[in-house]
Amino acid sequence: MLKGKTAIVTGSTSGIGQGMALALANAGCNVMLNGLGDAAQIEAERVKMEKDTGSKILFNGADMTKPDQIEAMIKETKAKFGSVDIIVNNAGVQHVAAIDEFPPEKWDQIIAINLTSAFYMTRLTLPLMKAAGWGRVINLASAHALVASPYKSAYVAAKHGLAGMTKSVALEVAQQNITVNAICPGYVKTPLVDKQIGDQAKARGISEEDVVKNVILGAQPTKQFTTVEDIGALAVFLCSDAAKNITGSVLPIDGGWTAA
Ligand code: NAD
Repeated sequence: MLKGKTAIVTGSTSGIGQGMALALANAGCNVMLNGLGDAAQIEAERVKMEKDTGSKILFNGADMTKPDQIEAMIKETKAKFGSVDIIVNNAGVQHVAAIDEFPPEKWDQIIAINLTSAFYMTRLTLPLMKAAGWGRVINLASAHALVASPYKSAYVAAKHGLAGMTKSVALEVAQQNITVNAICPGYVKTPLVDKQIGDQAKARGISEEDVVKNVILGAQPTKQFTTVEDIGALAVFLCSDAAKNITGSVLPIDGGWTAA
């Protein structure tokens, strides 16, 4: 379906980004992977993804806090694949603390990675999409783009900001065959969340099962995690022709969390 298209997926060495990269590659897309991690492990995963999907996969380790590295990654993608048709702004980090105890450097880091990197990615790739007459921008936001939780001020501010930027840019390119949308998952069982389950069980003296059901999924009416495969499938759908009139949308995939 996406044969001949090229996607950059930021933060795709783990979790949701990796799942979306795999789904796009399975749909025929060339993919530029990005993210932090052990070089040998990333290379092994890149080779496996290429073998399993038959699509071309490259990796660029641009740090999303560094605009010059973001620009270099986009230039490398254009040079090696010939175009940049799809960007998935997914890289993200979290820090949990009351605002009067929130370390300023953590605030700056979360805003830089979760919000400002999407600004640079978008401003530098939209000209390529406009020239090609087709494009897809997918911003990986969160249920926290729509509702808040305490102690996550930087994350909630960044994700609400990302939702706002999604709508604004969608309007700017609405007649240029480029769609801009935000995906807003509830809890997804990535390595990050897995670690929280064990820690919370120990801290609260309850079973991991109880942590999942009552603590982590307490706000999620279906009591089920969203999976990386669910999000991958949504990303591929947003790139399809059937989704050409979905733009400026902030799409929850959160088991009913933000409906409650
Ligand atoms: P994860 O920790 O598994 O993956 C995060 C990715 O971002 C990794 O590949 C990491 O290397 C990369 N990254 C971090 N800092 C970076 C930097 N400076 N430069 C480049 N890459 C960097 O987390 P995840 O759960 O897969 O989260 C992915 C996205 O989904 C994030 O934006 C997160 O906010 C969002 N999200 C996650 C959940 C969840 O429950 N897991 C829910 C809603 C939204």
